[in-house]
Amino acid sequence: MSTITKSYQTLVGKLEEISHLNGVMATIGWDHQVMMPSGAAEIRSEQIAALAGVIHERMTDPHLEDCLDVLKEENITSLSKIERCNIIEARRNVTLEAKVPKRLVQEMAKLSSQSHLIWVAARQENKFSDFAPILKRFLELKKEWAQCVFPGMDPYDANIDNFERGTVKDEITPIFARLKDELIPLIKAVQDSSYQPNTSFLHGKFPVKKQEMLARQISQDIGFQFDQGRMDVSVHPFCGGSHPTDVRITTRYQESNFIESLYAVIHETGHGLYEQGRMLEGRSLPASESLTMGIHESQSLFWERMIAQSKPFCSHYFETIRATFPENLAGESATSFYQAINSCKPDFIRVEADELTYPLHVILRYEIECGLFDGSISVDDLPGIWGELMFKYLGVKPPTDTLGVLQDSHWSGGAFGYFPSYTLGAIYACQFYRSMVKELPDTEENISTGNFVPIKNWLNEKIHCQGRLCTPQELVMQVTGEKLNPDYFVSYLNKKYTEIYRLS
Ligand code: ZN
Repeated sequence: MSTITKSYQTLVGKLEEISHLNGVMATIGWDHQVMMPSGAAEIRSEQIAALAGVIHERMTDPHLEDCLDVLKEENITSLSKIERCNIIEARRNVTLEAKVPKRLVQEMAKLSSQSHLIWVAARQENKFSDFAPILKRFLELKKEWAQCVFPGMDPYDANIDNFERGTVKDEITPIFARLKDELIPLIKAVQDSSYQPNTSFLHGKFPVKKQEMLARQISQDIGFQFDQGRMDVSVHPFCGGSHPTDVRITTRYQESNFIESLYAVIHETGHGLYEQGRMLEGRSLPASESLTMGIHESQSLFWERMIAQSKPFCSHYFETIRATFPENLAGESATSFYQAINSCKPDFIRVEADELTYPLHVILRYEIECGLFDGSISVDDLPGIWGELMFKYLGVKPPTDTLGVLQDSHWSGGAFGYFPSYTLGAIYACQFYRSMVKELPDTEENISTGNFVPIKNWLNEKIHCQGRLCTPQELVMQVTGEKLNPDYFVSYLNKKYTEIYRLS
């Protein structure tokens, strides 16, 4: 056996072990949010810390580096594309792990476990000043982290790279500027329109048992495999799990509103289909893993927005939904249902925002993060700036910080650079959808008859199976023949909302 083959096999063994340990971590993380009794919180954080220590040890194992030293770029030309990708990804992960001093890792971990509770309390008591010192410290640490891992790079770009590798401010800023130019006047026109869809039938009493049955059925219809996944309840919906054969999605139920839960399930199913659809070769190795947060979000939004908020989807499912909640939907039609679930109303909270106002919530956070990193915005000024930008973009001003700057958990965990992924995901989703319809002209017909197999297969082949074999920039080029282009997203929104709100 050649040295290369032997080193590669050793590397694979080590990477698989790390992946299994991460799988265990994901399972106890899921348990933490779904099943764990609250009394176990303390011991669970000890268990997580212990396991994190073991994973860190494995990642910094000198034998791993020895293998990577043998498997240099020029030595591995005889290996397959997937094998080479596993090596490149492993090298990136190991290098990133090694570049951050232990002291910094520990301080960030400690701050993040303390800050979550401080953020929860500050949000509850509407006291931004209690959270501000934590935020300041996190910014310092994240700037230092950027300096360690990507010296010479703009520190905010380095933080974005953590979630959206290869994407930088210079690419995002003009895309977001275009969205602002187009969406702010469109939202205003929608609000001023004399025609407003009736949404009253979406509020009422919707038994949770029935909501769950409906959500499970739709999740299964669009392709989620329940023999390789589960659906449960948690405070915030998410998609987790330990492996493509063990994908865990969650939702939450409110008796007064079934749409929120149903569309959360469809959203998380989209994430779940990405995980279940990963390539069959080397499923515990890095080449098979999902590409970036933005591409992951493109898959959830593809199903939630492009498919499930479309007319053909509403026409296919309306009778099933009406049969589930006959009293609430008695006098309604597929058209009135379609209009109601797509209604637009500027409000304070990002996670409850509709598809048209959501990008403005993200752009506001992105601009604030840019300012915090380049020093043009100071933490103490955040509540005021938040209110000003909300008013400028959405015409509303949150009456409290709880409904404003304190609403998201991201900053309490030091996750700067994460927000852009949500809107990049929406733009990717729209561009992917357009290419799919070109290649599969029967798509709308298929949706309206409940035949989702061709759609799932297309996404599987074009995106899910591609793993990390290319960059997001290469993927979008490969799938759509051009680079990320916000024009499609803008014209999709313009066309859809002009029609619903009878503008022009
Ligand atoms: Zn998502």
